[in-house]
Amino acid sequence: MSEQTLVVIGAGHVAASAARALRRRGFAGAIVLVGDEPVGPYQRPHLSKERLATGGDAGLWLLDPAWCEANDVTLRTSSPVDRISTGTGEVLLTDGTALRADLVLVATGGRPRQLPGVEGDRVHSIRSLADSDRLRERLLPGRRIGVLGGGFLGTEVAAAALRRGAEVVVFDRDPVLLARVLGADIGAAVTGLHRQRGVELRLGTAVTEIRTSADGVTVVTAGGAESVDDLVVSIGIEPDTDVAVRSGLVVGNGVEVDAQGRTSVPTVFAAGDVAAHDHPRYGRIRVEHVDVAQQQAAAIASTLAGRPATFADPHWFWTDQFDINVQGLGLAGIRADDVLVSRGNPRALDGTVFWLRDGGIVAAATVERGEDISVARELIDLEIPVSAGQLADESVELEDLLDQEEVPV
Ligand SMILES: Cc1cc2nc3c(=O)[nH]c(=O)nc-3n(C[C@H](O)[C@H](O)[C@H](O)COP(=O)(O)OP(=O)(O)OC[C@H]3O[C@@H](n4cnc5c(N)ncnc54)[C@H](O)[C@@H]3O)c2cc1C
Repeated sequence: MSEQTLVVIGAGHVAASAARALRRRGFAGAIVLVGDEPVGPYQRPHLSKERLATGGDAGLWLLDPAWCEANDVTLRTSSPVDRISTGTGEVLLTDGTALRADLVLVATGGRPRQLPGVEGDRVHSIRSLADSDRLRERLLPGRRIGVLGGGFLGTEVAAAALRRGAEVVVFDRDPVLLARVLGADIGAAVTGLHRQRGVELRLGTAVTEIRTSADGVTVVTAGGAESVDDLVVSIGIEPDTDVAVRSGLVVGNGVEVDAQGRTSVPTVFAAGDVAAHDHPRYGRIRVEHVDVAQQQAAAIASTLAGRPATFADPHWFWTDQFDINVQGLGLAGIRADDVLVSRGNPRALDGTVFWLRDGGIVAAATVERGEDISVARELIDLEIPVSAGQLADESVELEDLLDQEEVPV
């Protein structure tokens, strides 16, 4: 095993995490990261936060070239991959280069969903560093920016635009921002926050038409037509499965992998935004969070280093809404009949919501109380029974629930 060469296709979060995790776990073979961007792996979440607002690069880069050199990790940038030749065990680049690969990790991420016919210089989406830098130049005082889609990314873009002095209007067909993912209370709190900070919201109404011209973009809803200088389309991503499809891997909503990250070809793995993994709690699911990408990469690294591991984490993520931190855990598994319990005051931007089922926590979301999520993670992992009353009662320390012997009714 130690002589094997691993090629990672896509040089993003999975690639950087896999390289580090493989070396930490004693994988001794060569590691080659092949990316199509002109730069090495970077913190993609910065693109809608600090990088977009300020252009700064503190903490942006994920791999230090000196570390790569010292650890025999080769990074090839601007090198799009065409496909894996599973017959010859090679990764074929579009420029005709063939790289020997005993093992392959497909980590091609995702690409923003586009609206057919909505394109041009004044239409933006953010996936790459180049996208973010291009958009930042448009976020200037006196300019009016439209954001189509009030999800995590759209709301972060709105906050960054406002921070740069631009006017912002967010369009979303849902009446409350983020309520579908984070619940009604936190959704209401985030919606109120954006309104209070000066983001104009056009919620609860679908966009029926978008017209682009050299001077700007017109967005039409049932409420009328509005003109903006630039429009950011933020309506989700699709997994970038092109390489996987050309390589003959089984692909559904992403590259299908088992709980160890293995695709339909035993020497080929996939992780991150592109991978639809077989989760022990949630079944087949594809998740677009950094922590999931990193942990899947680490689990695959363990397996490749000889200590088989499965990825079973309840999926954690965070988003920064202005200066307010929001986190979620286990939300992929919530059901309509779960019992919701609030601790503190999430509607006032200070509290946590828990989803309870059969006497245990299945999910949690918080505003500004990250420590509650850490405890919730252990309560979920260890399947410790808790009651709604305990969770709602702020005189009960959440940590103490980890050690309790009996749950009061
Ligand atoms: C603006 C933004 C903000 C985000 N904020 C958050 C956040 O706050 N919290 C959170 O949890 N998650 C956030 N995410 C999501 C997070 O960034 C992703 O989950 C994470 O990047 C997934 O890692 P990955 O390695 O699967 O994909 P990526 O990091 O996207 O890496 C994939 C790489 O593969 C390359 N590639 C694709 N095809 C080829 C090919 N044929 N050949 C070579 N290379 C190829 C791509 O260009 C890309 O560089 C955010 C994402 C974006 C875009």
